[in-house]
Amino acid sequence: MKHKILYYSTNRNLTNVPGIVPFKERVTFREALLQGQAPDEGLFMPDGIPRIPREDITALNGKSYIETAMLIAGAFLNSEIDPGVLRGIIEDAYSFTVPLQQVTDRKYVMRLDQGPTASFKDFAARMMARLMSHFRDQEKILHVLVATSGDTGSAVGEAFKGVEGIDVNILYPRDEVSERQKKQLDTIGGNVSALSIDGKFDDCQNLVKQAFSDPSLDFLSFTSANSINFGRILPQMIYYFYAYAQLGRAGEEIVISVPSGNFGNALGCEYAKRMGLPVKKLIMPTNENDEFPRFMKEGIYEKLSPSAACISNAMNVGHPSNLARFFELYNGTVDRTGTVHQYPDIDAMRETIFSVSVSDEETRECIKNTYEKYGVVLEPHGAVGWRGLEIYLEQHGDFPLCVSLETAHPAKFSDEVVELLGITPTLPESMRGIDERKGESAELPSDYKVFKEYLQDTLKTGVRST
Ligand SMILES: *Cc1c(COP(=O)(O)O)cnc(C)c1O
Repeated sequence: MKHKILYYSTNRNLTNVPGIVPFKERVTFREALLQGQAPDEGLFMPDGIPRIPREDITALNGKSYIETAMLIAGAFLNSEIDPGVLRGIIEDAYSFTVPLQQVTDRKYVMRLDQGPTASFKDFAARMMARLMSHFRDQEKILHVLVATSGDTGSAVGEAFKGVEGIDVNILYPRDEVSERQKKQLDTIGGNVSALSIDGKFDDCQNLVKQAFSDPSLDFLSFTSANSINFGRILPQMIYYFYAYAQLGRAGEEIVISVPSGNFGNALGCEYAKRMGLPVKKLIMPTNENDEFPRFMKEGIYEKLSPSAACISNAMNVGHPSNLARFFELYNGTVDRTGTVHQYPDIDAMRETIFSVSVSDEETRECIKNTYEKYGVVLEPHGAVGWRGLEIYLEQHGDFPLCVSLETAHPAKFSDEVVELLGITPTLPESMRGIDERKGESAELPSDYKVFKEYLQDTLKTGVRST
């Protein structure tokens, strides 16, 4: 693709909707990355999708993850970043393995659980952090404020640890995180600080939002690292190409199953298909939060509120934030609140996507079965993915090449695994030693005035001398 890809907002056409002032401009990747979200609260979308020639994909067979990342990220970024710089970013971000574990025949589990927080979110967060460091205003420190209810915070915090020119403050609700999560967040250290807020997750989010829109803090440069940043979607296209390049045979198609919550991961696969990856079907299994499979079946979208609390807790989502991008790709529009302004072409969606809801009971059964039958240990999210694949194959007949994603390490959900399988999964190398780490959070009330004073007193403006 020769023209430079620019980014537009999913809300750009919502002219008569109260509370929304449509943003009609297009911005560069740099701006989309640093702004995170469009000014009209829509999500940024690329105005063109690069095509990867089939022979370029095949040529990646036997090559490293780094080479795959260079090709796919480069296709979006080559007009904005020097290839040598991009290589440095990618090599620094992806210092861990991406195992393709055979389950049976040519059906595999791709383990995205080997990063520093043993979650697939490491893939996106680590690359985004380094891209932000490259693209930031070099004269100033960039401040990342992120509200978290647990896992995302540690993936984001670890991803930014030691990254040049960026300071991170993570706000978490004091009584809503586990002891282990608190330890993980409080002890990252260096340029990453934890703020323990006397409130709920929503309070943390509100404090962050108020700081972003407070003109008296304009002297600080802020950004968010939330999951809707396009900088987090781009890295999630890469591993689909990697898996296919290693496993695919001349011209054949692949079925891919992606356990889904906010749909950012599955969106990476949707883009991969549009870039030329021969995806026969994208399977998007959810847990008991079944608003999307229900929509795919019945054609009516109704978000779930509140969401159901399932054991695959990172997927307890009643209105997936990236649904707006899926709708957009199929000529529909849905906003942040879940209101559908235009329904997408559901027949076209059904061509590509198969979605099904997997109950907690089925999830547990799947963890047991895959271990007993194949010796493969899955945790609840990966089991939702695998079970979704099985259901698809049961309904549509067997298919030779299939890959299902494992999105977290079983040791992170050891209670469930120990109870079901009677074995204790060992923590990956990257996560050992956390219990010995030292560090403390700052404790703050859920009060904007106090939070603002804290920011004014503690945040630095210039570039650090080290
Ligand atoms: C975030 C998360 C998911 C869901 O991914 P989405 O991109 O939000 O669909 C699945 N599994 C784990 C372990 C996660 O942390």
